[in-house]
Order: sequence, then structure tokens, then C-alpha cells
Amino acid sequence: MHTVLVTGAAGFIAQHVVAQLLERGFAVRGTVRKLDRGEQVRESLASSGIDVAGLDFVVADLDDDAGWDEAVAGCRYVQHLASPFPLEPPRDREALVPAAREGALRVARAARAADVERLVVTSSMVAMMYRAGRPPRCAVDESSWTDPDWTPLTAYVVSKTRAERALWDWAEAEQWRESVATVNPAFVLGPGIGDGVGTSLEVIRMFMQGAYPAVPPVAYPVVDVRDVAAVHVAAMTTPAAGGRRLIASDKTLSFVELARLLKRKYPQRRLPVRQLPRPLVRLVALFDRPLRSVLQDLGVAPEADASYVTDLLDVAFRPAEEAALASAAHLVSRGLV
Ligand code: NDP
Repeated sequence: MHTVLVTGAAGFIAQHVVAQLLERGFAVRGTVRKLDRGEQVRESLASSGIDVAGLDFVVADLDDDAGWDEAVAGCRYVQHLASPFPLEPPRDREALVPAAREGALRVARAARAADVERLVVTSSMVAMMYRAGRPPRCAVDESSWTDPDWTPLTAYVVSKTRAERALWDWAEAEQWRESVATVNPAFVLGPGIGDGVGTSLEVIRMFMQGAYPAVPPVAYPVVDVRDVAAVHVAAMTTPAAGGRRLIASDKTLSFVELARLLKRKYPQRRLPVRQLPRPLVRLVALFDRPLRSVLQDLGVAPEADASYVTDLLDVAFRPAEEAALASAAHLVSRGLV
């Protein structure tokens, strides 16, 4: 049985990766910052019907060298998902770079030293889709890169872009590019495992709780978490995925389309079905920090064609609407809204 290291194993996407790896018969070693999070993940997976006999946890922090070599020892593959993803952007746009970039390089160096067969790193479409002067419908493909010095970017986008750039530069220098693949997901929705609400599901929760009377005029490509996990697993074992940036995305939905979709399903709920005018978003964002993270997105709809990933890995993407409704159903069934 081959062992896979999964970093940030308690995260929203990582728990699905862990579940799919266990279902395929891999042993999984997950990293967490506190061991009791590992126990919660074990319980959540077990109560979802997953056999967790092959699962164990170790403690490691992206900001610290300690523990990474031991974590990777004996692993055939590494799935690196851990990275800070706060709902509220920190004021300092470089604040998340140390954990994201140096953390990714720590994991990559440990993986190289342990001679793992494939390192899969979760980047993001946000590392591909931002630059000054984007057209209103902005096509994104495998060769697209965000300009991390573009002023409106949030700290999260800066961190993901700098981390992925540094990873590929390092892999080139080490002549190890073919052993690395990145997964670049769109906005990830779909059901959670357990009761944790990460940043993605928090957005749907805010809609469902009527936190905003209207939504900003923004649109994001959307993908289901179960498909994102399937891309991670296939990227690990498909030789031709080496050296590739794998976009995981279905189609682009605007926030107002998303809110109206949820309203049709939950008509009794107070959901926002109107769009805020752009100047008002800018005004409200002066006081509302979470809203600040959409300022970089106003008026632009990024779109990606991920059919090359379906062809390469044989992973099809569920409709974006199905992913959104599955998030809402999860939150309702767990009593989280
Ligand atoms: P979560 O916030 O649920 O997971 C993030 C994980 O990173 C958590 O397990 C967290 O650990 C861990 N982490 C954060 N900082 C550190 C640190 N300093 N040291 C060790 N671990 C750390 O987010 P997601 O599951 O949504 O995101 C997972 C990955 O996918 C991230 O790399 C994110 O950038 C990427 N991504 C997410 C998208 C989305 O829409 N959700 C879209 C595109 C990419 P702890 O449990 O201890 O807090």
C-alpha cells in the first residue's frame, strides 16, 4: 500500500482528497497544526462511511522547518493543499506570502529529498486571472499568469501567485519539473465533510443568512469540490500530468445568478436577488473588510476551458449549479445556516 502525504488535511478540499485516496486504497498521512484537528477529521470521515484505518496525522506548520522531513519520510506521493485562505484580507498585501511561498518550498524540498514520485500542489485560478486592463470577459488558460504587483490584488491572490511562481522556478532549477503538477481550481463549492465552514462555504452561508441585502457585480468560474479532489488524485498517478498546470473549473456564475439559483431552491429564505451598483460596493467596502476582497473583481467575468484536464485525466466537471446547490444542502442539513 503506497502512502500519500496530504498537507492541511483538515481543510475543506483536503478532506475530500483524503477521502478519495482512502477509498482507492492508499494510506494517508495528513498534516495538521494541532493534533486534535486530526481527530475531528478522522471522526467526520468515519461518520461519512469512509474506512479510516489507513489514516494518521502528524503536526507541521508551513511557517516552520520542523517536522516536514519526518512527515514526507516513506511517502510515495505528496499532495500539498495547506495555505492560508482567510475570509477577511489582511491589510499587508504580502502578509500571507511567507506561509504560502516558503511553506510550499519547504514541502517541495522535503518531497524532492525523499524522492517522491509526484508532488501535487494546489495553486488556484487566482494565480492566473488578474492583470491590469483585463477585458470584461477574460479568457484564462494554462499559460495565463496573474501579475502579483497589480495594486488592487488582495493578500490571498498575491500569496497564491508568488507561491506558484516560486514553485515552478524551483522545480526548473532542480530539473524536477516533470515530478510536479499544480491544480488550479476555480471557486470551489460543493458539500463539506464534517461541520467546519471554510472560506468557500462561508460565502454561501452569508448568502443564505441574508447577510447582504444585495450582491456585488462579480462573477467567478465555479467547480465542485468532489471534482477538484478527483483532479488531485488523478494528477498524482497520471504520468502525463507532470509539469502541467491543471485548471479545475466548470462555467462562470455571477453572484446574482448564484443567489437567484439558491432563492429558487429556498424561496422562504431572505436571499439577495439584486446587484449592488459598483460605486456603492466601493463605498461599503470602506467599512466592510470581507467585501474588500471583491474590489479586484468588479465588472470582469473570467472564463476558463478546462476540457484539456478532462481529456488528460478523465475527470469530468459537474455543473457549477450542482456544486452551489450541494453547498447549500450541506449547510442546511448540518444546521449551519
Ligand atoms: P481551508 O481554509 O479549508 O484549508 C486551508 C488549510 O491550510 C487548512 O487545513 C489550514 O490548517 C492550512 N493552513 C493554513 N495556514 C497554515 C500554516 N501556516 N501551516 C500549516 N497549515 C496551514 O481552505 P480550502 O480547503 O478551501 O483550500 C485548500 C487549498 O485550496 C488552499 O491552498 C487554497 O488556496 C486552495 N484553493 C481554494 C479554493 C476555494 O475556492 N476554496 C480555490 C482555489 C484554490 P488549519 O486547519 O490548521 O487551519
